[in-house]
Amino acid sequence: MSSSKPTPAAWTIENFLEVKNGQLHIDGVSAIDLGRKFATPLFVFSEARIKQNIERLKKAERVIGCPLKICYAAKANSNMAILRTVKEAGSDLEVNSGGELFKALKIGFKPEQIIFNGTSKTEAELESAINAGIYAIQSDSLYEIELTEKVARRLNKKANVSLRLVPEIETNTHSGLQTALLTSKFGMMPDEALSAFRRWHDAEFLNLCGIHLHIGSQTPDAEPYTEAFKTLFENLVKIYEETNLKLSHINLGGGFPVNYLRDEAQAADFPHAQQELFSATLEPSDVLQKAWRGVKEVAENAGAAHLLENITLLLEPGRSVIADAGICLTTVCNRKERPLQNPKIDLTESKIQSPKSKIQSDVWLLTDAGFNILLSMETYKWYYQLISAERADEAHDFPYKLAGPLCDGGDVYFDIEGQNRLPDYRQLPENVQPNEILVLLNCGAYSIAQMFQYNGRQLPAIVLIKETGEVKLIRKRDTFEDLLTNDLF
Ligand SMILES: *Cc1c(COP(=O)(O)O)cnc(C)c1O
Repeated sequence: MSSSKPTPAAWTIENFLEVKNGQLHIDGVSAIDLGRKFATPLFVFSEARIKQNIERLKKAERVIGCPLKICYAAKANSNMAILRTVKEAGSDLEVNSGGELFKALKIGFKPEQIIFNGTSKTEAELESAINAGIYAIQSDSLYEIELTEKVARRLNKKANVSLRLVPEIETNTHSGLQTALLTSKFGMMPDEALSAFRRWHDAEFLNLCGIHLHIGSQTPDAEPYTEAFKTLFENLVKIYEETNLKLSHINLGGGFPVNYLRDEAQAADFPHAQQELFSATLEPSDVLQKAWRGVKEVAENAGAAHLLENITLLLEPGRSVIADAGICLTTVCNRKERPLQNPKIDLTESKIQSPKSKIQSDVWLLTDAGFNILLSMETYKWYYQLISAERADEAHDFPYKLAGPLCDGGDVYFDIEGQNRLPDYRQLPENVQPNEILVLLNCGAYSIAQMFQYNGRQLPAIVLIKETGEVKLIRKRDTFEDLLTNDLF
Protein backbone atom coordinates (compact mmCIF):
# COMPACT_ATOMS: atom_id res chain seq x y z
CA MET A 1 0.00 0.00 0.00
CA SER A 2 1.37 3.37 -0.87
CA SER A 3 1.09 6.17 1.64
CA SER A 4 -0.34 9.48 0.55
CA LYS A 5 1.68 11.33 3.19
CA PRO A 6 4.06 13.83 1.64
CA THR A 7 7.68 13.35 2.59
CA PRO A 8 8.63 15.70 5.39
CA ALA A 9 11.05 18.53 4.59
CA ALA A 10 14.70 17.64 5.00
CA TRP A 11 15.13 19.94 7.98
CA THR A 12 12.51 18.16 10.10
CA ILE A 13 13.61 15.83 12.88
CA GLU A 14 11.12 13.24 14.06
CA ASN A 15 9.60 13.93 17.49
CA PHE A 16 11.50 17.22 17.68
CA LEU A 17 11.08 19.60 14.75
CA GLU A 18 7.88 18.74 12.94
CA VAL A 19 5.19 20.33 10.81
CA LYS A 20 1.57 20.07 11.98
CA ASN A 21 -1.27 21.90 10.23
CA GLY A 22 1.36 23.75 8.25
CA GLN A 23 3.00 25.16 11.38
CA LEU A 24 6.37 24.39 12.85
CA HIS A 25 6.18 22.48 16.13
CA ILE A 26 9.08 21.98 18.47
CA ASP A 27 8.71 19.03 20.86
CA GLY A 28 5.02 19.10 20.01
CA VAL A 29 4.56 22.78 20.90
CA SER A 30 3.48 25.26 18.21
CA ALA A 31 6.24 27.74 17.41
CA ILE A 32 3.60 30.30 16.45
CA ASP A 33 1.92 30.01 19.85
CA LEU A 34 5.29 30.50 21.54
CA GLY A 35 6.11 33.50 19.36
CA ARG A 36 2.77 35.13 20.15
CA LYS A 37 2.91 34.36 23.87
CA PHE A 38 6.52 35.39 24.56
CA ALA A 39 7.07 37.85 21.66
CA THR A 40 9.99 37.66 19.26
CA PRO A 41 12.89 37.42 18.92
CA LEU A 42 12.61 34.32 21.08
CA PHE A 43 14.99 31.42 21.57
CA VAL A 44 13.40 28.02 22.15
CA PHE A 45 15.35 25.02 23.45
CA SER A 46 14.44 21.37 23.72
CA GLU A 47 15.44 19.53 26.86
CA ALA A 48 14.91 16.19 25.12
CA ARG A 49 17.21 17.12 22.27
CA ILE A 50 19.99 18.29 24.59
CA LYS A 51 19.79 14.97 26.41
CA GLN A 52 19.81 12.99 23.16
CA ASN A 53 22.87 14.88 21.96
CA ILE A 54 24.74 14.05 25.15
CA GLU A 55 23.66 10.42 24.93
CA ARG A 56 25.00 10.29 21.38
CA LEU A 57 28.40 11.43 22.61
CA LYS A 58 28.38 9.06 25.56
CA LYS A 59 27.74 6.17 23.21
CA ALA A 60 31.35 6.49 22.14
CA GLU A 61 32.45 4.99 25.44
CA ARG A 62 31.27 1.59 24.24
CA VAL A 63 33.62 1.58 21.26
CA ILE A 64 36.80 2.66 23.01
CA GLY A 65 38.75 0.85 25.68
CA CYS A 66 38.69 3.47 28.42
CA PRO A 67 36.29 5.60 30.46
CA LEU A 68 34.97 8.69 28.73
CA LYS A 69 34.40 11.99 30.53
CA ILE A 70 32.19 14.41 28.61
CA CYS A 71 32.82 18.03 29.64
CA TYR A 72 30.28 20.26 27.91
CA ALA A 73 31.97 23.51 26.78
CA ALA A 74 30.09 26.17 28.74
CA LYS A 75 31.09 28.92 26.35
CA ALA A 76 28.72 27.55 23.70
CA ASN A 77 25.75 28.42 25.93
CA SER A 78 25.93 28.96 29.67
CA ASN A 79 22.38 29.97 30.49
CA MET A 80 21.85 28.57 34.00
CA ALA A 81 18.87 26.37 33.05
CA ILE A 82 20.82 25.01 30.10
CA LEU A 83 23.76 24.21 32.41
CA ARG A 84 21.36 22.42 34.74
CA THR A 85 19.91 20.41 31.86
CA VAL A 86 23.38 19.42 30.73
CA LYS A 87 24.28 18.38 34.28
CA GLU A 88 21.12 16.32 34.64
CA ALA A 89 21.94 14.63 31.36
CA GLY A 90 25.10 13.34 33.03
CA SER A 91 27.68 15.64 31.47
CA ASP A 92 30.57 17.33 33.23
CA LEU A 93 31.69 20.85 32.34
CA GLU A 94 34.50 22.79 30.70
CA VAL A 95 34.72 26.45 31.75
CA ASN A 96 36.82 29.26 30.35
CA SER A 97 36.73 31.99 32.98
CA GLY A 98 36.15 32.72 36.62
CA GLY A 99 32.63 33.74 35.66
CA GLU A 100 31.83 30.40 34.08
CA LEU A 101 33.41 28.62 37.05
CA PHE A 102 31.17 30.64 39.35
CA LYS A 103 28.09 29.68 37.32
CA ALA A 104 29.15 26.03 37.23
CA LEU A 105 29.52 25.76 41.00
CA LYS A 106 26.34 27.74 41.56
CA ILE A 107 24.22 25.38 39.46
CA GLY A 108 25.67 22.42 41.32
CA PHE A 109 28.48 20.88 39.29
CA LYS A 110 30.88 19.18 41.69
CA PRO A 111 34.51 20.35 41.54
CA GLU A 112 35.62 16.99 40.14
CA GLN A 113 33.23 17.56 37.25
CA ILE A 114 34.90 20.80 36.17
CA ILE A 115 37.89 21.58 33.96
CA PHE A 116 39.15 25.11 33.34
CA ASN A 117 40.62 26.30 30.02
CA GLY A 118 41.78 29.73 28.93
CA THR A 119 44.75 31.68 27.68
CA SER A 120 44.73 34.45 30.26
CA LYS A 121 43.74 33.11 33.66
CA THR A 122 44.22 35.57 36.47
CA GLU A 123 45.57 34.77 39.93
CA ALA A 124 42.08 35.29 41.31
CA GLU A 125 40.67 32.76 38.83
CA LEU A 126 43.39 30.25 39.61
CA GLU A 127 42.73 30.74 43.29
CA SER A 128 39.01 29.96 42.88
CA ALA A 129 39.82 26.87 40.83
CA ILE A 130 42.44 25.57 43.27
CA ASN A 131 40.28 26.32 46.29
CA ALA A 132 37.34 24.48 44.74
CA GLY A 133 39.65 21.57 43.88
CA ILE A 134 38.54 21.13 40.29
CA TYR A 135 39.45 18.12 38.13
CA ALA A 136 41.99 20.01 36.03
CA ILE A 137 43.27 23.48 35.35
CA GLN A 138 44.36 23.34 31.74
CA SER A 139 47.54 25.35 31.56
CA ASP A 140 48.16 27.34 28.44
CA SER A 141 51.85 28.25 28.91
CA LEU A 142 54.92 27.70 31.06
CA TYR A 143 54.30 31.08 32.63
CA GLU A 144 50.83 29.98 33.67
CA ILE A 145 52.12 26.80 35.30
CA GLU A 146 54.53 28.90 37.35
CA LEU A 147 51.68 31.20 38.33
CA THR A 148 49.51 28.22 39.26
CA GLU A 149 52.28 26.81 41.46
CA LYS A 150 52.71 30.16 43.16
CA VAL A 151 49.00 30.42 43.95
CA ALA A 152 48.77 26.79 45.05
CA ARG A 153 51.75 27.25 47.38
CA ARG A 154 50.15 30.33 48.89
CA LEU A 155 46.90 28.41 49.46
CA ASN A 156 48.81 25.34 50.64
CA LYS A 157 46.70 23.21 48.31
CA LYS A 158 47.71 20.96 45.45
CA ALA A 159 46.46 22.04 42.01
CA ASN A 160 45.48 19.51 39.36
CA VAL A 161 47.04 20.65 36.13
CA SER A 162 46.74 19.45 32.57
CA LEU A 163 48.80 20.97 29.76
CA ARG A 164 47.31 22.31 26.56
CA LEU A 165 49.36 21.46 23.48
CA VAL A 166 49.34 23.21 20.15
CA PRO A 167 50.36 20.36 17.88
CA GLU A 168 50.17 21.92 14.40
CA ILE A 169 47.14 19.99 13.20
CA GLU A 170 45.20 21.60 10.40
CA THR A 171 41.49 21.06 9.80
CA ASN A 172 39.12 22.11 7.06
CA THR A 173 37.05 24.45 9.14
CA HIS A 174 36.69 28.23 9.03
CA SER A 175 40.08 29.86 9.71
CA GLY A 176 38.76 31.66 12.78
CA LEU A 177 37.78 28.28 14.24
CA GLN A 178 41.21 26.62 13.84
CA THR A 179 42.92 26.31 17.19
CA ALA A 180 45.72 23.77 16.91
CA LEU A 181 48.12 25.72 14.71
CA LEU A 182 51.17 27.68 15.83
CA THR A 183 49.53 30.71 14.27
CA SER A 184 46.70 30.39 16.79
CA LYS A 185 46.97 31.92 20.24
CA PHE A 186 46.38 28.74 22.20
CA GLY A 187 48.51 26.29 24.11
CA MET A 188 52.18 25.37 24.29
CA MET A 189 54.45 23.50 21.92
CA PRO A 190 55.03 19.82 22.75
CA ASP A 191 58.69 20.52 23.60
CA GLU A 192 57.67 23.13 26.13
CA ALA A 193 55.18 20.72 27.65
CA LEU A 194 57.87 18.06 27.96
CA SER A 195 60.18 20.50 29.71
CA ALA A 196 57.33 21.37 32.07
CA PHE A 197 56.86 17.72 32.97
CA ARG A 198 60.62 17.39 33.61
CA ARG A 199 60.56 20.39 35.86
CA TRP A 200 57.32 19.89 37.79
CA HIS A 201 56.48 16.16 37.68
CA ASP A 202 57.06 15.77 41.41
CA ALA A 203 56.28 19.34 42.49
CA GLU A 204 54.81 19.69 45.96
CA PHE A 205 51.87 21.83 44.92
CA LEU A 206 51.21 20.67 41.38
CA ASN A 207 49.67 17.44 40.24
CA LEU A 208 50.44 17.28 36.52
CA CYS A 209 47.79 14.80 35.51
CA GLY A 210 46.96 15.22 31.83
CA ILE A 211 47.51 16.68 28.41
CA HIS A 212 44.99 18.38 26.24
CA LEU A 213 44.41 19.72 22.78
CA HIS A 214 41.48 21.17 20.88
CA ILE A 215 41.76 21.18 17.11
CA GLY A 216 38.97 23.68 16.47
CA SER A 217 35.25 23.92 15.92
CA GLN A 218 32.95 22.43 13.24
CA THR A 219 35.72 20.05 12.15
CA PRO A 220 34.24 18.39 9.06
CA ASP A 221 36.27 15.15 8.91
CA ALA A 222 37.57 12.43 11.19
CA GLU A 223 41.28 12.35 10.30
CA PRO A 224 42.38 15.32 12.42
CA TYR A 225 40.93 13.56 15.48
CA THR A 226 42.97 10.43 14.82
CA GLU A 227 46.03 12.57 14.26
CA ALA A 228 45.32 14.53 17.43
CA PHE A 229 44.82 11.37 19.48
CA LYS A 230 48.10 9.95 18.17
CA THR A 231 49.90 13.19 19.01
CA LEU A 232 48.55 13.06 22.54
CA PHE A 233 49.64 9.46 22.89
CA GLU A 234 53.14 10.10 21.55
CA ASN A 235 53.52 12.86 24.11
CA LEU A 236 52.14 10.62 26.82
CA VAL A 237 54.84 8.04 26.02
CA LYS A 238 57.63 10.64 25.99
CA ILE A 239 56.47 12.04 29.31
CA TYR A 240 56.47 8.54 30.80
CA GLU A 241 59.91 7.73 29.43
CA GLU A 242 61.43 10.92 30.77
CA THR A 243 59.66 11.25 34.12
CA ASN A 244 58.09 7.87 34.86
CA LEU A 245 54.81 9.71 35.25
CA LYS A 246 51.64 7.95 34.11
CA LEU A 247 49.03 10.55 33.17
CA SER A 248 45.50 9.96 34.36
CA HIS A 249 43.77 11.60 31.44
CA ILE A 250 44.10 12.86 27.91
CA ASN A 251 41.71 15.43 26.51
CA LEU A 252 40.76 15.54 22.86
CA GLY A 253 38.80 18.81 23.05
CA GLY A 254 35.57 19.54 21.23
CA GLY A 255 34.76 20.46 17.65
CA PHE A 256 32.29 17.79 16.49
CA PRO A 257 30.32 19.38 13.66
CA VAL A 258 26.62 20.01 13.28
CA ASN A 259 24.91 19.71 9.92
CA TYR A 260 23.55 23.20 9.32
CA LEU A 261 22.64 22.38 5.74
CA ARG A 262 20.57 19.21 5.93
CA ASP A 263 18.11 20.71 3.50
CA GLU A 264 19.83 20.70 0.13
CA ALA A 265 16.90 22.47 -1.47
CA GLN A 266 18.12 25.49 0.47
CA ALA A 267 21.63 25.10 -0.88
CA ALA A 268 20.85 26.70 -4.21
CA ASP A 269 23.07 29.70 -4.68
CA PHE A 270 25.22 28.50 -1.78
CA PRO A 271 28.96 29.04 -2.17
CA HIS A 272 30.37 25.60 -2.85
CA ALA A 273 33.45 25.99 -0.75
CA GLN A 274 31.17 26.40 2.27
CA GLN A 275 28.86 23.51 1.53
CA GLU A 276 31.20 20.88 2.89
CA LEU A 277 31.76 22.82 6.07
CA PHE A 278 28.11 23.52 6.81
CA SER A 279 26.82 20.09 5.83
CA ALA A 280 29.43 18.11 7.78
CA THR A 281 28.13 14.97 9.43
CA LEU A 282 30.41 13.06 11.75
CA GLU A 283 29.26 10.45 14.22
CA PRO A 284 31.37 11.02 17.34
CA SER A 285 31.45 7.31 18.17
CA ASP A 286 32.79 6.49 14.67
CA VAL A 287 35.42 9.21 14.96
CA LEU A 288 36.56 7.99 18.35
CA GLN A 289 36.51 4.35 17.37
CA LYS A 290 38.84 5.14 14.46
CA ALA A 291 41.08 7.30 16.60
CA TRP A 292 41.21 4.71 19.38
CA ARG A 293 42.12 1.92 16.95
CA GLY A 294 44.90 4.06 15.47
CA VAL A 295 46.35 4.79 18.87
CA LYS A 296 46.05 1.23 20.11
CA GLU A 297 48.05 0.03 17.14
CA VAL A 298 50.78 2.57 17.80
CA ALA A 299 50.74 1.67 21.50
CA GLU A 300 51.04 -2.05 20.88
CA ASN A 301 53.85 -1.63 18.36
CA ALA A 302 55.71 0.54 20.83
CA GLY A 303 55.12 -1.85 23.74
CA ALA A 304 53.37 0.98 25.54
CA ALA A 305 49.81 -0.34 25.72
CA HIS A 306 50.03 -0.34 29.52
CA LEU A 307 49.98 3.47 29.41
CA LEU A 308 46.42 3.32 28.11
CA GLU A 309 45.24 1.04 30.86
CA ASN A 310 44.15 3.48 33.53
CA ILE A 311 43.56 6.46 31.38
CA THR A 312 40.37 8.52 31.06
CA LEU A 313 39.52 10.22 27.78
CA LEU A 314 38.02 13.70 28.06
CA LEU A 315 35.94 15.46 25.41
CA GLU A 316 34.81 19.08 25.43
CA PRO A 317 31.82 19.22 23.07
CA GLY A 318 29.93 22.51 22.83
CA ARG A 319 28.32 22.94 19.45
CA SER A 320 27.36 19.26 19.06
CA VAL A 321 25.44 19.35 22.35
CA ILE A 322 23.51 22.57 22.02
CA ALA A 323 23.45 23.95 18.45
CA ASP A 324 20.56 21.94 17.02
CA ALA A 325 18.65 21.95 20.31
CA GLY A 326 17.83 25.64 19.94
CA ILE A 327 15.91 27.71 17.41
CA CYS A 328 15.27 31.42 17.13
CA LEU A 329 11.86 32.81 16.26
CA THR A 330 11.82 36.17 14.53
CA THR A 331 9.08 38.32 13.04
CA VAL A 332 9.20 40.07 9.69
CA CYS A 333 8.93 43.78 10.49
CA ASN A 334 9.31 45.39 7.09
CA ARG A 335 9.31 44.56 3.40
CA LYS A 336 10.63 46.55 0.46
CA GLU A 337 11.60 46.07 -3.16
CA ARG A 338 14.77 47.13 -4.93
CA PRO A 339 16.08 46.70 -8.47
CA LEU A 340 17.93 43.39 -8.92
CA GLN A 341 21.53 43.46 -7.80
CA ASN A 342 24.26 42.53 -10.25
CA PRO A 343 24.73 38.80 -9.95
CA LYS A 344 27.95 38.05 -8.09
CA ILE A 345 27.63 34.31 -7.96
CA ASP A 346 29.45 32.07 -10.35
CA LEU A 347 26.68 30.05 -11.96
CA THR A 348 29.11 27.56 -13.42
CA GLU A 349 29.78 26.43 -9.84
CA SER A 350 26.15 26.09 -8.93
CA LYS A 351 24.41 22.87 -9.93
CA ILE A 352 21.06 24.32 -9.12
CA GLN A 353 19.53 27.01 -11.25
CA SER A 354 19.95 30.47 -9.85
CA PRO A 355 16.88 31.58 -7.89
CA LYS A 356 17.28 34.91 -9.61
CA SER A 357 15.59 33.53 -12.70
CA LYS A 358 12.31 33.79 -10.81
CA ILE A 359 12.40 37.41 -9.85
CA GLN A 360 12.24 40.82 -11.46
CA SER A 361 13.32 42.76 -8.39
CA ASP A 362 14.95 42.07 -5.03
CA VAL A 363 12.44 41.64 -2.23
CA TRP A 364 13.87 42.66 1.13
CA LEU A 365 12.54 41.35 4.43
CA LEU A 366 13.67 43.05 7.61
CA THR A 367 13.36 40.95 10.78
CA ASP A 368 13.70 41.62 14.49
CA ALA A 369 16.72 39.27 14.90
CA GLY A 370 20.03 41.02 14.37
CA PHE A 371 23.65 40.04 14.81
CA ASN A 372 23.52 41.31 18.37
CA ILE A 373 21.81 38.00 19.19
CA LEU A 374 23.49 35.88 16.46
CA LEU A 375 26.98 37.27 16.34
CA SER A 376 28.43 34.39 14.29
CA MET A 377 26.28 35.54 11.38
CA GLU A 378 28.44 38.67 11.28
CA THR A 379 31.87 37.50 12.50
CA TYR A 380 32.00 34.12 10.73
CA LYS A 381 29.23 34.64 8.19
CA TRP A 382 27.61 31.62 9.77
CA TYR A 383 24.66 29.95 8.08
CA TYR A 384 21.39 29.31 9.91
CA GLN A 385 18.61 27.82 7.84
CA LEU A 386 15.53 30.00 7.75
CA ILE A 387 11.98 28.75 7.38
CA SER A 388 8.52 30.17 7.70
CA ALA A 389 7.08 28.93 10.99
CA GLU A 390 3.55 29.64 9.76
CA ARG A 391 3.91 28.04 6.34
CA ALA A 392 6.46 25.38 7.13
CA ASP A 393 4.99 22.93 4.64
CA GLU A 394 4.97 25.28 1.66
CA ALA A 395 7.71 25.27 -0.93
CA HIS A 396 10.60 27.45 0.21
CA ASP A 397 11.79 28.50 -3.20
CA PHE A 398 11.31 32.23 -3.47
CA PRO A 399 14.49 34.26 -3.03
CA TYR A 400 14.63 37.16 -0.59
CA LYS A 401 17.23 39.52 0.71
CA LEU A 402 17.03 39.09 4.50
CA ALA A 403 18.36 41.50 7.08
CA GLY A 404 18.15 42.21 10.79
CA PRO A 405 16.95 45.39 12.49
CA LEU A 406 20.28 46.95 13.51
CA CYS A 407 21.46 50.30 12.30
CA ASP A 408 24.48 48.63 10.74
CA GLY A 409 24.93 47.71 7.07
CA GLY A 410 26.59 44.43 8.08
CA ASP A 411 23.41 43.19 9.76
CA VAL A 412 22.29 41.00 6.86
CA TYR A 413 21.70 37.27 6.38
CA PHE A 414 23.48 37.00 3.02
CA ASP A 415 26.85 37.39 1.42
CA ILE A 416 28.25 40.89 1.24
CA GLU A 417 31.34 42.15 -0.50
CA GLY A 418 31.89 38.90 -2.34
CA GLN A 419 33.06 36.99 0.73
CA ASN A 420 31.33 33.92 -0.64
CA ARG A 421 30.41 32.44 2.69
CA LEU A 422 26.65 32.85 2.64
CA PRO A 423 24.14 32.52 -0.17
CA ASP A 424 23.14 35.77 -1.88
CA TYR A 425 19.49 35.06 -1.17
CA ARG A 426 17.43 33.24 1.46
CA GLN A 427 14.56 31.10 0.27
CA LEU A 428 11.11 31.27 1.79
CA PRO A 429 7.55 30.77 0.52
CA GLU A 430 6.28 33.34 -1.93
CA ASN A 431 4.63 36.53 -0.69
CA VAL A 432 6.07 36.81 2.81
CA GLN A 433 4.64 39.94 4.43
CA PRO A 434 5.28 41.83 7.67
CA ASN A 435 4.15 40.02 10.87
CA GLU A 436 4.90 36.57 9.49
CA ILE A 437 6.93 34.56 12.02
CA LEU A 438 10.09 32.97 10.66
CA VAL A 439 12.46 30.63 12.40
CA LEU A 440 16.23 30.26 12.26
CA LEU A 441 17.30 26.68 12.92
CA ASN A 442 20.35 25.31 14.76
CA CYS A 443 20.80 28.49 16.77
CA GLY A 444 21.62 27.03 20.17
CA ALA A 445 25.41 27.43 20.17
CA TYR A 446 27.41 30.66 20.26
CA SER A 447 24.27 32.80 20.04
CA ILE A 448 22.82 33.86 23.37
CA ALA A 449 26.28 33.32 24.87
CA GLN A 450 27.49 36.24 22.77
CA MET A 451 24.50 38.58 22.72
CA PHE A 452 24.74 42.27 23.53
CA GLN A 453 22.50 45.32 23.71
CA TYR A 454 23.77 47.16 20.63
CA ASN A 455 21.35 49.86 19.44
CA GLY A 456 19.54 49.73 22.77
CA ARG A 457 18.07 46.37 21.84
CA GLN A 458 16.56 44.41 24.71
CA LEU A 459 18.05 40.95 24.95
CA PRO A 460 15.48 38.28 24.13
CA ALA A 461 13.57 35.84 26.27
CA ILE A 462 14.47 32.15 26.18
CA VAL A 463 12.18 29.21 26.81
CA LEU A 464 12.99 25.57 27.43
CA ILE A 465 10.53 22.87 26.52
CA LYS A 466 10.85 20.25 29.20
CA GLU A 467 10.53 16.53 28.54
CA THR A 468 7.19 16.71 30.36
CA GLY A 469 5.91 19.16 27.74
CA GLU A 470 6.03 22.09 30.17
CA VAL A 471 7.20 25.34 28.55
CA LYS A 472 9.57 27.03 30.95
CA LEU A 473 10.80 30.62 30.71
CA ILE A 474 14.54 30.35 31.40
CA ARG A 475 15.46 33.93 30.64
CA LYS A 476 13.17 36.90 30.78
CA ARG A 477 13.32 39.54 28.10
CA ASP A 478 15.23 42.67 29.08
CA THR A 479 13.17 45.67 30.05
CA PHE A 480 14.21 49.18 29.08
CA GLU A 481 15.40 49.58 32.67
CA ASP A 482 17.80 46.67 32.10
CA LEU A 483 19.51 48.78 29.47
CA LEU A 484 20.62 51.11 32.27
CA THR A 485 21.71 48.46 34.80
CA ASN A 486 25.34 49.38 35.17
CA ASP A 487 25.43 52.93 33.85
CA LEU A 488 26.16 55.51 36.53
CA PHE A 489 24.60 58.87 35.80
C1 LIG B 1 35.33 26.30 22.08
C2 LIG B 1 36.03 25.17 22.71
C3 LIG B 1 35.42 23.93 22.80
C4 LIG B 1 34.07 23.63 22.21
O1 LIG B 1 34.13 23.55 20.83
P1 LIG B 1 32.83 23.07 19.97
O2 LIG B 1 33.24 23.24 18.58
O3 LIG B 1 31.71 23.95 20.36
O4 LIG B 1 32.58 21.64 20.33
C5 LIG B 1 36.09 22.92 23.45
N1 LIG B 1 37.31 23.11 23.98
C6 LIG B 1 37.94 24.31 23.91
C7 LIG B 1 39.26 24.46 24.51
C8 LIG B 1 37.33 25.36 23.26
O5 LIG B 1 37.96 26.53 23.17
